[in-house]
Amino acid sequence: MGEFELIARYFTRPPAAGGMVARGVGDDCAVLDLGDRWLALTTDMLVEGRHFFAGAEPEALGHKALAVNLSDLAAAGAAPRCFFLALALPQADEVWLAAFSRGMLALADAHGCTLAGGDTTRSSAGGPLTICITAVGETPPGAALSRAGALVGDDLWVSGEVGDAALALERLRSAVAPAQAGAQCLCSTTLGPGLRRGDGALDAIRQRLDRPEPRVALGLRLRGLASSCIDVSDGLLGDLGHIRERSGVGAELLWSAVPRSPTLRAQPPEVEQRCALAGGDDYEVLFTAAPAQRDAVQTAGAAAGVAVKRIGRITAEPGCRVLDADGRMIDTAGLASFDHFAP
Ligand SMILES: [Mg+2]
Repeated sequence: MGEFELIARYFTRPPAAGGMVARGVGDDCAVLDLGDRWLALTTDMLVEGRHFFAGAEPEALGHKALAVNLSDLAAAGAAPRCFFLALALPQADEVWLAAFSRGMLALADAHGCTLAGGDTTRSSAGGPLTICITAVGETPPGAALSRAGALVGDDLWVSGEVGDAALALERLRSAVAPAQAGAQCLCSTTLGPGLRRGDGALDAIRQRLDRPEPRVALGLRLRGLASSCIDVSDGLLGDLGHIRERSGVGAELLWSAVPRSPTLRAQPPEVEQRCALAGGDDYEVLFTAAPAQRDAVQTAGAAAGVAVKRIGRITAEPGCRVLDADGRMIDTAGLASFDHFAP
């Protein structure tokens, strides 16, 4: 049983009648309808040895733990308001705590997001460090973006560049002992050979893995513009799959249009394709908008200070076709997105 089937079978229920939940399980954020405003809520957990290496640099870890939650708020077009932190710590290491909180709170301050509460406990002997954050954002009533709503004929867009985080992770994994690497979290595709070592540019892309910048400003400007939106956490194709499924549509993706860094483009083709299409951990936003909105989308990106790129379109035909520059279909059958419970 995969992660998403597990959630669908055991944890997906219709909201209780008369409750405030306007949108429940199955989107980047749940939405509470408060009448004069909507609250968007999301929760994301990071587990040592699963989402990050044991001994990971604590300041970056603090940043990333909050960033992945703010990224979900961005996908909902919600303005961050506050967050809650639940920590299971092997021990109270003050040096670690100082650095971790510094990284987390610097990002929180940058987004005006208040740490409003939480819980701290000691993990059982040898238990992993676990960080769970719940973030709360706000939108005007009815304005929250969702994965549903993509229409046939809409353009498909993505912000920034994709694939660098996965490439950095591949490099890190190849640098640690195999026994330790076996416990790491990555796309479920197997890692092929061919990563070039000793290249300084590869160190630069580590920033994309360790310190993702949530696209909050862009998300806010996509309200009323994007017909659907998701953040790219599990891989471009997998997250596009969530939009397709929730919107009941298909998609056509142009490989040559997918934005990727010069460093990624310099990799062997199969590495480049795997990282860009299925790598995950990008925390860019993937969204759809009507073709009439092309100028408005470009303006939104410019105002938010992030590049936006049109990478395909929404189709009536179900499924996802990835096309090369000559319009030929690229076989992506082996590129599964990340699933924590995949066999
Ligand atoms: Mg998400």
